[in-house]
Amino acid sequence: MELELVKKYHQELNIDGFSLKDNLLIIAGPCSIESEEQMLQVAKMLFENKIMFLRTATYKPRTSPYSFQGLGREGFGIIKKIKEIYPLKVVAEIVNTRDLDLYIEYVDIIQIGARNMQNFEILKTLGQTKKPVLLKRGFGNTIEEWLNAAEYLLVNGNDQVILCERGIRTFEVMTRNTLDISSIPIVKGITKLPIIVDPSHASGRSDLVRPLSLAAIAAGADGLMIEVHPQPNESISDKDQAIGFGEFTSLLDEIIRIKTVLNEM
Ligand code: PEP
Ligand code: MN
Repeated sequence: MELELVKKYHQELNIDGFSLKDNLLIIAGPCSIESEEQMLQVAKMLFENKIMFLRTATYKPRTSPYSFQGLGREGFGIIKKIKEIYPLKVVAEIVNTRDLDLYIEYVDIIQIGARNMQNFEILKTLGQTKKPVLLKRGFGNTIEEWLNAAEYLLVNGNDQVILCERGIRTFEVMTRNTLDISSIPIVKGITKLPIIVDPSHASGRSDLVRPLSLAAIAAGADGLMIEVHPQPNESISDKDQAIGFGEFTSLLDEIIRIKTVLNEM
């Protein structure tokens, strides 16, 4: 019974024609929706660079109650406008299931954040939908606990699950978290569920996004989720880890080069 469905998983991730067979799953965008203008700038840049997946958030789980909490329901109106202009798929975090209808309507991949990885009621509810779920690893959770969270989604009937390693808490304070690079080959040895890496939350540092991204792809990750902002220094949340458009596009180029080398090996 233990991790039964995770271990025998054999589905293909299939989000409206996107297949992992020939593509990396690259998701990029701001930590949170700040304004329509900010989102339009990011969406345009992604579209021009042939990136299909836009990350963002309308609700932010913040450590301090005094930090920006996200635009809430208003954010869905902005997502709707962006999607009317650009054919992008939106990835956004759910923090409770009260607004599930809005997520079902406007969001293409529902993210379960590190803090809710073991919110079993959210897992059960999303398990009963057909929406793809991006399941982040809790910063205090083992790989086995993380895969059990995935099992909750699978056993409830949702087979569109993507795992996301985003760093774990260690004694090291130079980085926000410590990217557990070994989780990639370990997870791959247990399950065929796709696994991507979030170098932004793993490090909390924009200067580490590039090396961690390259390392993740070299270690076999199926993709990346990266925080990108039109003016990183002005980002309302997580500004220390956001990268700008120029850095993002040159990183994309390097990621493709690493992947090409891997494919030839
Ligand atoms: C996020 O991706 O917006 C986020 C809050 O990340 P995490 O849940 O990994 O901290
Ligand atoms: Mn963030």
